[in-house]
Amino acid sequence: MIVGAGFAGFECARTLSRLARGAAEIVLLNPHDYFLYVPLLPEVAAGILEPRRIAVSLTRNLPGTRLVLGQAHDVDLDARQVRYTDPEGEKGALPYDRLVLTVGSVNKLLPVPGVAEHAHGFRGMPEALYLRDHVTRQIELAGASEDPAERSARTTFVVVGAGYTGTEVAAHGVLFSAGLARQNAGLKDGPRPRWLLLDVADRLLPGLDERLSHTADRVLRSRGVDVRTRTSVKEATADGVLLDDGEFIHSRSLIWCVGVRPDPLVDSLGLPTDKGRLCVDKFLGVPGRPEVFACGDAAAVPDLTRPGEVTPMTAQHAQRQGKVAAHNVAASCGRGSPRAYQHHDLGFMVDLGGSQAAANPLHLPISGPLAAAVTRGYHLMAMPGNRVRVAADWFLDAVLPRSGVQLGLLNSWSVPLDTEAPELPRLPGGETART
Ligand SMILES: Cc1cc2nc3c(=O)[nH]c(=O)nc-3n(C[C@H](O)[C@H](O)[C@H](O)COP(=O)(O)OP(=O)(O)OC[C@H]3O[C@@H](n4cnc5c(N)ncnc54)[C@H](O)[C@@H]3O)c2cc1C
Repeated sequence: MIVGAGFAGFECARTLSRLARGAAEIVLLNPHDYFLYVPLLPEVAAGILEPRRIAVSLTRNLPGTRLVLGQAHDVDLDARQVRYTDPEGEKGALPYDRLVLTVGSVNKLLPVPGVAEHAHGFRGMPEALYLRDHVTRQIELAGASEDPAERSARTTFVVVGAGYTGTEVAAHGVLFSAGLARQNAGLKDGPRPRWLLLDVADRLLPGLDERLSHTADRVLRSRGVDVRTRTSVKEATADGVLLDDGEFIHSRSLIWCVGVRPDPLVDSLGLPTDKGRLCVDKFLGVPGRPEVFACGDAAAVPDLTRPGEVTPMTAQHAQRQGKVAAHNVAASCGRGSPRAYQHHDLGFMVDLGGSQAAANPLHLPISGPLAAAVTRGYHLMAMPGNRVRVAADWFLDAVLPRSGVQLGLLNSWSVPLDTEAPELPRLPGGETART
Protein backbone atom coordinates (compact mmCIF):
# COMPACT_ATOMS: atom_id res chain seq x y z
CA MET A 1 0.00 0.00 0.00
CA ILE A 2 1.27 3.46 -0.96
CA VAL A 3 0.01 6.57 0.84
CA GLY A 4 0.33 9.71 -1.32
CA ALA A 5 0.43 9.91 -5.11
CA GLY A 6 2.96 12.66 -5.69
CA PHE A 7 6.35 12.30 -7.36
CA ALA A 8 7.49 9.52 -5.04
CA GLY A 9 4.18 7.65 -4.69
CA PHE A 10 3.32 7.77 -8.39
CA GLU A 11 6.72 6.46 -9.44
CA CYS A 12 6.66 3.81 -6.72
CA ALA A 13 3.24 2.53 -7.88
CA ARG A 14 4.29 2.57 -11.53
CA THR A 15 7.54 0.69 -10.92
CA LEU A 16 6.00 -1.77 -8.50
CA SER A 17 3.24 -2.74 -10.90
CA ARG A 18 5.86 -3.40 -13.60
CA LEU A 19 7.93 -5.51 -11.21
CA ALA A 20 4.98 -7.42 -9.73
CA ARG A 21 3.33 -8.21 -13.09
CA GLY A 22 0.02 -8.94 -11.40
CA ALA A 23 1.48 -10.99 -8.54
CA ALA A 24 0.72 -8.34 -5.92
CA GLU A 25 -2.22 -6.12 -5.09
CA ILE A 26 -1.05 -2.49 -5.17
CA VAL A 27 -3.28 0.03 -3.42
CA LEU A 28 -2.67 3.78 -3.72
CA LEU A 29 -4.37 6.08 -1.21
CA ASN A 30 -4.56 9.76 -2.23
CA PRO A 31 -7.09 12.52 -1.56
CA HIS A 32 -7.56 13.29 -5.26
CA ASP A 33 -7.54 11.28 -8.46
CA TYR A 34 -4.55 12.94 -10.09
CA PHE A 35 -0.80 13.26 -9.81
CA LEU A 36 -0.03 16.98 -9.53
CA TYR A 37 3.00 18.11 -11.53
CA VAL A 38 3.86 20.77 -8.94
CA PRO A 39 6.78 22.47 -10.77
CA LEU A 40 4.33 23.91 -13.32
CA LEU A 41 1.96 25.28 -10.69
CA PRO A 42 3.26 28.87 -11.14
CA GLU A 43 2.21 28.64 -14.81
CA VAL A 44 -1.33 27.76 -13.71
CA ALA A 45 -1.39 30.78 -11.38
CA ALA A 46 -0.20 32.98 -14.26
CA GLY A 47 -2.90 31.75 -16.63
CA ILE A 48 -0.48 30.05 -19.06
CA LEU A 49 -1.67 26.51 -18.35
CA GLU A 50 -5.19 25.38 -17.61
CA PRO A 51 -5.25 23.46 -14.30
CA ARG A 52 -6.10 20.03 -15.72
CA ARG A 53 -2.94 20.12 -17.84
CA ILE A 54 -0.78 19.47 -14.78
CA ALA A 55 -3.26 17.07 -13.15
CA VAL A 56 -2.36 13.65 -14.55
CA SER A 57 -5.04 10.97 -14.16
CA LEU A 58 -3.95 8.24 -11.75
CA THR A 59 -6.36 5.60 -12.98
CA ARG A 60 -5.42 6.06 -16.62
CA ASN A 61 -1.68 6.11 -15.99
CA LEU A 62 -1.50 3.44 -13.31
CA PRO A 63 -3.64 0.61 -14.71
CA GLY A 64 -2.12 -2.02 -12.39
CA THR A 65 -2.93 -0.07 -9.23
CA ARG A 66 -6.16 0.22 -7.23
CA LEU A 67 -6.80 3.86 -6.36
CA VAL A 68 -8.57 4.59 -3.08
CA LEU A 69 -9.63 8.22 -2.66
CA GLY A 70 -8.98 9.46 0.84
CA GLN A 71 -6.76 11.23 3.31
CA ALA A 72 -4.90 9.00 5.77
CA HIS A 73 -5.20 10.28 9.33
CA ASP A 74 -3.80 7.40 11.32
CA VAL A 75 -1.42 4.50 10.75
CA ASP A 76 -1.62 1.59 13.19
CA LEU A 77 1.85 0.14 12.72
CA ASP A 78 1.21 -2.88 14.96
CA ALA A 79 -2.11 -3.83 13.36
CA ARG A 80 -0.69 -2.94 9.90
CA GLN A 81 -3.62 -0.80 9.00
CA VAL A 82 -4.13 2.72 7.61
CA ARG A 83 -7.27 4.60 8.59
CA TYR A 84 -8.54 7.29 6.27
CA THR A 85 -11.47 9.55 5.41
CA ASP A 86 -12.84 9.55 1.88
CA PRO A 87 -13.95 12.70 -0.03
CA GLU A 88 -17.54 12.21 1.16
CA GLY A 89 -16.60 11.96 4.82
CA GLU A 90 -16.84 8.16 5.13
CA LYS A 91 -14.18 6.55 7.29
CA GLY A 92 -12.32 3.50 6.10
CA ALA A 93 -9.37 1.27 6.99
CA LEU A 94 -6.94 -0.49 4.69
CA PRO A 95 -4.71 -3.37 5.77
CA TYR A 96 -1.25 -3.73 4.31
CA ASP A 97 1.65 -6.18 4.05
CA ARG A 98 4.08 -3.48 2.95
CA LEU A 99 3.55 0.24 3.45
CA VAL A 100 5.23 3.07 1.51
CA LEU A 101 4.68 6.53 2.98
CA THR A 102 5.01 9.27 0.37
CA VAL A 103 2.77 12.01 1.77
CA GLY A 104 4.99 14.94 0.74
CA SER A 105 4.91 18.33 2.43
CA VAL A 106 2.70 21.28 3.36
CA ASN A 107 3.24 25.05 3.73
CA LYS A 108 5.79 26.09 6.34
CA LEU A 109 4.53 28.61 8.88
CA LEU A 110 6.53 31.15 10.87
CA PRO A 111 5.24 32.81 14.03
CA VAL A 112 4.70 36.23 12.43
CA PRO A 113 1.60 38.12 13.63
CA GLY A 114 -1.19 38.27 11.06
CA VAL A 115 0.44 35.95 8.53
CA ALA A 116 -1.86 32.96 9.16
CA GLU A 117 -4.89 35.25 8.64
CA HIS A 118 -3.72 37.35 5.69
CA ALA A 119 -1.23 35.32 3.68
CA HIS A 120 -1.79 32.49 1.22
CA GLY A 121 0.60 29.66 0.50
CA PHE A 122 1.56 28.11 -2.80
CA ARG A 123 1.71 24.34 -2.58
CA GLY A 124 -1.47 22.94 -4.11
CA MET A 125 -3.88 23.40 -6.97
CA PRO A 126 -6.51 25.37 -4.98
CA GLU A 127 -3.86 27.92 -4.01
CA ALA A 128 -2.70 28.36 -7.62
CA LEU A 129 -6.28 28.80 -8.84
CA TYR A 130 -7.02 31.22 -6.03
CA LEU A 131 -3.95 33.31 -6.86
CA ARG A 132 -4.84 33.51 -10.55
CA ASP A 133 -8.34 34.76 -9.67
CA HIS A 134 -7.09 37.02 -6.91
CA VAL A 135 -4.53 38.82 -9.10
CA THR A 136 -7.13 39.25 -11.85
CA ARG A 137 -9.67 40.61 -9.36
CA GLN A 138 -7.21 43.07 -7.79
CA ILE A 139 -6.37 44.50 -11.21
CA GLU A 140 -10.07 44.80 -12.09
CA LEU A 141 -10.96 46.45 -8.77
CA ALA A 142 -7.99 48.82 -9.06
CA GLY A 143 -9.08 49.78 -12.57
CA ALA A 144 -12.56 50.63 -11.31
CA SER A 145 -11.41 52.61 -8.28
CA GLU A 146 -11.21 56.43 -8.17
CA ASP A 147 -9.01 56.39 -5.06
CA PRO A 148 -5.27 56.48 -5.92
CA ALA A 149 -4.31 54.90 -2.57
CA GLU A 150 -6.65 51.97 -3.16
CA ARG A 151 -5.45 51.57 -6.74
CA SER A 152 -1.86 51.49 -5.57
CA ALA A 153 -2.54 48.94 -2.79
CA ARG A 154 -4.51 46.66 -5.09
CA THR A 155 -1.75 46.68 -7.71
CA THR A 156 1.00 45.91 -5.18
CA PHE A 157 1.81 42.21 -4.64
CA VAL A 158 4.20 40.97 -1.96
CA VAL A 159 5.88 37.57 -2.25
CA VAL A 160 7.80 36.33 0.79
CA GLY A 161 10.50 33.73 0.26
CA ALA A 162 12.84 33.83 -2.73
CA GLY A 163 13.43 30.11 -3.11
CA TYR A 164 12.40 28.57 -6.45
CA THR A 165 8.69 28.79 -5.60
CA GLY A 166 8.66 32.48 -4.62
CA THR A 167 11.01 33.46 -7.43
CA GLU A 168 8.87 31.71 -10.06
CA VAL A 169 5.64 33.11 -8.62
CA ALA A 170 7.02 36.67 -8.72
CA ALA A 171 8.60 36.23 -12.16
CA HIS A 172 5.36 34.94 -13.70
CA GLY A 173 3.12 37.18 -11.61
CA VAL A 174 4.71 40.43 -12.74
CA LEU A 175 4.22 39.51 -16.42
CA PHE A 176 0.68 38.25 -15.87
CA SER A 177 -0.48 41.33 -13.93
CA ALA A 178 1.20 43.72 -16.40
CA GLY A 179 -0.72 42.03 -19.24
CA LEU A 180 -4.00 42.34 -17.32
CA ALA A 181 -3.32 46.01 -16.54
CA ARG A 182 -2.61 46.76 -20.22
CA GLN A 183 -6.04 45.35 -21.16
CA ASN A 184 -7.80 47.38 -18.46
CA ALA A 185 -9.04 50.81 -19.58
CA GLY A 186 -8.76 52.19 -16.05
CA LEU A 187 -5.09 51.18 -15.67
CA LYS A 188 -3.44 51.12 -19.05
CA ASP A 189 -2.01 54.65 -18.67
CA GLY A 190 -1.15 54.22 -14.99
CA PRO A 191 1.98 52.78 -13.38
CA ARG A 192 2.61 49.07 -13.89
CA PRO A 193 1.58 46.72 -11.09
CA ARG A 194 4.32 46.48 -8.49
CA TRP A 195 5.74 43.18 -7.21
CA LEU A 196 8.04 42.83 -4.22
CA LEU A 197 10.07 39.70 -3.53
CA LEU A 198 11.49 39.47 -0.01
CA ASP A 199 13.90 37.06 1.62
CA VAL A 200 15.96 37.04 4.79
CA ALA A 201 18.85 35.52 2.82
CA ASP A 202 21.37 37.71 1.05
CA ARG A 203 20.46 36.48 -2.44
CA LEU A 204 17.61 35.03 -4.49
CA LEU A 205 17.43 31.24 -4.73
CA PRO A 206 19.48 30.65 -1.57
CA GLY A 207 20.81 27.11 -1.53
CA LEU A 208 21.02 26.87 -5.33
CA ASP A 209 24.02 27.63 -7.56
CA GLU A 210 24.94 31.34 -7.21
CA ARG A 211 24.95 31.74 -10.99
CA LEU A 212 21.24 30.91 -11.04
CA SER A 213 20.68 33.58 -8.38
CA HIS A 214 22.43 36.21 -10.51
CA THR A 215 20.35 35.37 -13.57
CA ALA A 216 17.08 35.39 -11.62
CA ASP A 217 18.02 38.65 -9.91
CA ARG A 218 18.84 40.33 -13.21
CA VAL A 219 15.67 39.14 -14.96
CA LEU A 220 13.37 40.08 -12.09
CA ARG A 221 14.88 43.53 -11.63
CA SER A 222 14.68 44.18 -15.39
CA ARG A 223 10.92 43.53 -15.11
CA GLY A 224 10.64 46.04 -12.29
CA VAL A 225 10.32 43.54 -9.43
CA ASP A 226 11.44 45.15 -6.19
CA VAL A 227 13.84 42.49 -4.89
CA ARG A 228 14.65 42.92 -1.21
CA THR A 229 17.15 40.55 0.34
CA ARG A 230 17.96 40.51 4.07
CA THR A 231 14.38 41.61 4.64
CA SER A 232 11.53 39.90 6.43
CA VAL A 233 7.96 40.51 7.48
CA LYS A 234 7.25 41.78 11.00
CA GLU A 235 3.47 41.83 10.75
CA ALA A 236 0.73 41.29 8.20
CA THR A 237 -2.58 43.13 8.30
CA ALA A 238 -5.61 43.41 6.02
CA ASP A 239 -4.12 46.63 4.62
CA GLY A 240 -0.57 45.52 3.99
CA VAL A 241 2.70 44.27 5.32
CA LEU A 242 5.05 45.76 7.91
CA LEU A 243 8.66 44.94 7.07
CA ASP A 244 11.38 44.46 9.66
CA ASP A 245 13.04 47.73 8.57
CA GLY A 246 9.89 49.60 9.63
CA GLU A 247 8.49 50.25 6.14
CA PHE A 248 4.79 49.56 5.66
CA ILE A 249 3.80 48.26 2.19
CA HIS A 250 0.16 48.90 1.36
CA SER A 251 -1.08 45.76 -0.40
CA ARG A 252 -3.99 43.32 -0.50
CA SER A 253 -1.80 40.40 -1.58
CA LEU A 254 0.69 38.48 0.56
CA ILE A 255 1.96 35.27 -1.01
CA TRP A 256 3.84 33.09 1.44
CA CYS A 257 6.55 30.96 -0.16
CA VAL A 258 8.93 30.52 2.76
CA GLY A 259 9.24 26.80 2.22
CA VAL A 260 7.55 23.59 3.18
CA ARG A 261 7.50 21.18 6.11
CA PRO A 262 6.76 17.44 6.00
CA ASP A 263 3.12 16.39 6.01
CA PRO A 264 1.79 16.26 9.61
CA LEU A 265 0.88 12.56 9.20
CA VAL A 266 4.60 11.80 9.74
CA ASP A 267 4.53 13.37 13.18
CA SER A 268 1.52 11.28 14.21
CA LEU A 269 3.41 8.01 13.67
CA GLY A 270 5.52 8.34 16.81
CA LEU A 271 8.64 7.23 14.90
CA PRO A 272 12.01 9.02 14.91
CA THR A 273 12.15 12.11 12.69
CA ASP A 274 14.81 14.53 11.48
CA LYS A 275 13.48 18.10 11.15
CA GLY A 276 10.00 16.60 10.89
CA ARG A 277 10.94 14.10 8.15
CA LEU A 278 10.61 10.39 8.90
CA CYS A 279 14.02 8.78 9.46
CA VAL A 280 14.81 5.99 6.99
CA ASP A 281 17.95 4.08 6.10
CA LYS A 282 19.71 4.14 2.75
CA PHE A 283 17.29 1.45 1.51
CA LEU A 284 14.39 3.79 2.35
CA GLY A 285 13.23 1.41 5.07
CA VAL A 286 12.09 2.59 8.51
CA PRO A 287 14.49 1.15 11.10
CA GLY A 288 12.82 -1.52 13.24
CA ARG A 289 9.81 -1.75 10.87
CA PRO A 290 10.94 -3.93 7.95
CA GLU A 291 7.51 -3.69 6.32
CA VAL A 292 7.46 0.16 6.24
CA PHE A 293 9.24 2.35 3.69
CA ALA A 294 9.15 6.11 3.18
CA CYS A 295 10.59 8.59 0.69
CA GLY A 296 10.18 11.98 -0.97
CA ASP A 297 9.68 15.21 0.99
CA ALA A 298 8.20 13.30 3.94
CA ALA A 299 11.36 11.24 4.61
CA ALA A 300 14.87 12.08 5.76
CA VAL A 301 16.80 9.97 3.24
CA PRO A 302 20.56 9.78 3.83
CA ASP A 303 22.38 11.47 0.94
CA LEU A 304 25.18 9.06 0.09
CA THR A 305 26.75 11.69 -2.20
CA ARG A 306 27.06 14.12 0.75
CA PRO A 307 27.79 12.02 3.84
CA GLY A 308 26.03 13.21 6.97
CA GLU A 309 23.30 15.09 5.08
CA VAL A 310 19.84 14.14 3.90
CA THR A 311 18.55 14.56 0.36
CA PRO A 312 16.85 17.91 -0.35
CA MET A 313 13.10 18.20 -0.84
CA THR A 314 12.95 18.15 -4.63
CA ALA A 315 10.94 16.33 -7.25
CA GLN A 316 14.18 15.09 -8.75
CA HIS A 317 14.95 13.09 -5.60
CA ALA A 318 11.34 12.14 -4.76
CA GLN A 319 10.74 10.53 -8.16
CA ARG A 320 13.96 8.51 -8.09
CA GLN A 321 13.40 7.47 -4.49
CA GLY A 322 9.92 6.23 -5.41
CA LYS A 323 11.50 3.93 -7.96
CA VAL A 324 14.09 2.61 -5.50
CA ALA A 325 11.39 2.10 -2.85
CA ALA A 326 9.45 -0.06 -5.33
CA HIS A 327 12.52 -2.22 -5.99
CA ASN A 328 13.12 -2.60 -2.26
CA VAL A 329 9.49 -3.50 -1.56
CA ALA A 330 9.75 -6.16 -4.27
CA ALA A 331 13.05 -7.35 -2.79
CA SER A 332 11.41 -7.66 0.64
CA CYS A 333 8.88 -10.00 -1.03
CA GLY A 334 11.63 -12.10 -2.59
CA ARG A 335 11.92 -10.43 -6.02
CA GLY A 336 15.37 -9.00 -6.70
CA SER A 337 17.77 -7.57 -4.17
CA PRO A 338 17.58 -4.30 -2.24
CA ARG A 339 19.19 -1.15 -3.68
CA ALA A 340 20.69 1.73 -1.71
CA TYR A 341 19.43 5.16 -2.82
CA GLN A 342 22.15 7.25 -4.38
CA HIS A 343 21.69 10.06 -6.84
CA HIS A 344 24.00 12.87 -7.85
CA ASP A 345 22.15 16.15 -8.23
CA LEU A 346 21.65 16.89 -11.94
CA GLY A 347 21.25 20.62 -11.48
CA PHE A 348 18.13 22.76 -11.23
CA MET A 349 15.83 24.75 -13.50
CA VAL A 350 13.95 27.86 -12.54
CA ASP A 351 11.29 28.98 -15.00
CA LEU A 352 11.16 32.79 -15.04
CA GLY A 353 8.34 33.15 -17.56
CA GLY A 354 8.45 34.87 -20.95
CA SER A 355 11.48 33.49 -22.72
CA GLN A 356 13.63 33.46 -19.59
CA ALA A 357 14.86 30.78 -17.22
CA ALA A 358 17.86 30.16 -15.02
CA ALA A 359 19.16 26.62 -15.24
CA ASN A 360 22.26 24.53 -14.65
CA PRO A 361 21.59 21.14 -16.26
CA LEU A 362 24.49 18.85 -15.38
CA HIS A 363 25.86 21.93 -13.54
CA LEU A 364 26.40 23.93 -16.76
CA PRO A 365 24.88 27.38 -16.13
CA ILE A 366 22.60 28.67 -18.89
CA SER A 367 20.12 31.51 -19.12
CA GLY A 368 17.80 33.28 -21.54
CA PRO A 369 15.77 31.58 -24.30
CA LEU A 370 18.08 28.53 -24.36
CA ALA A 371 17.47 27.91 -20.65
CA ALA A 372 13.73 28.46 -21.15
CA ALA A 373 13.67 25.89 -23.96
CA VAL A 374 15.69 23.37 -21.95
CA THR A 375 13.45 23.91 -18.91
CA ARG A 376 10.26 23.38 -20.87
CA GLY A 377 11.73 20.37 -22.67
CA TYR A 378 12.70 18.88 -19.32
CA HIS A 379 9.22 19.40 -17.87
CA LEU A 380 7.61 17.77 -20.89
CA MET A 381 9.88 14.75 -20.54
CA ALA A 382 9.38 14.51 -16.80
CA MET A 383 5.59 14.69 -16.92
CA PRO A 384 3.99 11.24 -16.92
CA GLY A 385 1.05 12.39 -19.09
CA ASN A 386 -0.79 15.36 -20.68
CA ARG A 387 2.34 16.38 -22.62
CA VAL A 388 0.58 17.32 -25.85
CA ARG A 389 -1.98 19.41 -23.99
CA VAL A 390 0.75 21.23 -22.06
CA ALA A 391 2.69 21.91 -25.26
CA ALA A 392 -0.53 23.11 -26.94
CA ASP A 393 -1.17 25.58 -24.08
CA TRP A 394 2.39 26.90 -24.41
CA PHE A 395 1.91 27.37 -28.12
CA LEU A 396 -1.43 29.18 -27.64
CA ASP A 397 0.08 31.39 -24.96
CA ALA A 398 2.84 32.39 -27.37
CA VAL A 399 0.41 33.51 -30.08
CA LEU A 400 -2.73 34.67 -28.24
CA PRO A 401 -3.39 37.08 -25.37
CA ARG A 402 -3.94 35.41 -22.02
CA SER A 403 -7.46 34.99 -20.68
CA GLY A 404 -8.17 37.75 -18.17
CA VAL A 405 -11.23 36.36 -16.41
CA GLN A 406 -11.65 35.18 -12.85
CA LEU A 407 -14.06 32.34 -12.14
CA GLY A 408 -14.31 33.20 -8.44
CA LEU A 409 -14.87 29.59 -7.36
CA LEU A 410 -12.43 29.81 -4.45
CA ASN A 411 -12.64 32.33 -1.63
CA SER A 412 -9.82 33.57 0.54
CA TRP A 413 -10.97 31.38 3.46
CA SER A 414 -11.07 28.25 1.31
CA VAL A 415 -7.28 28.30 0.87
CA PRO A 416 -5.89 28.98 4.37
CA LEU A 417 -2.15 29.06 4.84
CA ASP A 418 -2.32 26.85 7.91
CA THR A 419 -3.69 23.64 6.45
CA GLU A 420 -2.70 20.00 6.61
CA ALA A 421 -4.00 19.50 3.07
CA PRO A 422 -3.13 22.33 0.65
CA GLU A 423 -4.44 20.08 -2.14
CA LEU A 424 -8.02 20.38 -0.81
CA PRO A 425 -10.07 23.58 -0.60
CA ARG A 426 -11.72 24.36 2.74
CA LEU A 427 -15.53 24.33 2.97
CA PRO A 428 -17.72 26.75 5.00
CA GLY A 429 -17.30 25.89 8.66
CA GLY A 430 -13.61 25.22 8.31
CA GLU A 431 -13.56 21.56 7.25
CA THR A 432 -11.60 20.44 4.23
CA ALA A 433 -13.54 19.19 1.23
CA ARG A 434 -12.83 15.62 2.31
CA THR A 435 -14.52 15.73 5.74
C1 LIG B 1 5.63 25.69 -6.74
C2 LIG B 1 6.64 24.58 -6.61
C3 LIG B 1 7.57 24.39 -7.62
C4 LIG B 1 8.50 23.35 -7.52
N1 LIG B 1 9.41 23.19 -8.53
C5 LIG B 1 10.29 22.18 -8.46
C6 LIG B 1 11.21 21.97 -9.52
O1 LIG B 1 11.23 22.73 -10.51
N2 LIG B 1 12.08 20.92 -9.43
C7 LIG B 1 12.08 20.09 -8.33
O2 LIG B 1 12.90 19.15 -8.29
N3 LIG B 1 11.22 20.27 -7.31
C8 LIG B 1 10.32 21.28 -7.35
N4 LIG B 1 9.43 21.47 -6.31
C9 LIG B 1 9.47 20.55 -5.17
C10 LIG B 1 8.71 19.28 -5.52
O3 LIG B 1 7.44 19.59 -6.00
C11 LIG B 1 8.58 18.38 -4.29
O4 LIG B 1 9.87 18.13 -3.77
C12 LIG B 1 7.92 17.07 -4.68
O5 LIG B 1 6.58 17.31 -5.06
C13 LIG B 1 7.96 16.06 -3.54
O6 LIG B 1 7.37 14.87 -3.99
P1 LIG B 1 6.60 13.92 -2.95
O7 LIG B 1 6.15 12.74 -3.72
O8 LIG B 1 7.41 13.71 -1.74
O9 LIG B 1 5.34 14.79 -2.46
P2 LIG B 1 4.17 15.44 -3.31
O10 LIG B 1 4.51 15.55 -4.74
O11 LIG B 1 3.80 16.68 -2.56
O12 LIG B 1 2.99 14.39 -3.16
C14 LIG B 1 2.42 14.06 -1.93
C15 LIG B 1 1.07 13.40 -2.21
O13 LIG B 1 0.58 12.85 -0.99
C16 LIG B 1 -0.77 13.23 -0.81
N5 LIG B 1 -1.04 13.25 0.62
C17 LIG B 1 -0.63 14.14 1.54
N6 LIG B 1 -1.07 13.81 2.76
C18 LIG B 1 -1.78 12.66 2.61
C19 LIG B 1 -2.48 11.82 3.50
N7 LIG B 1 -2.55 12.08 4.80
N8 LIG B 1 -3.12 10.73 3.01
C20 LIG B 1 -3.08 10.45 1.66
N9 LIG B 1 -2.40 11.20 0.77
C21 LIG B 1 -1.77 12.29 1.25
C22 LIG B 1 -0.85 14.61 -1.46
O14 LIG B 1 -2.20 14.93 -1.78
C23 LIG B 1 0.01 14.40 -2.69
O15 LIG B 1 -0.74 13.86 -3.74
C24 LIG B 1 8.49 22.50 -6.39
C25 LIG B 1 7.56 22.71 -5.37
C26 LIG B 1 6.64 23.74 -5.47
C27 LIG B 1 5.64 23.95 -4.35
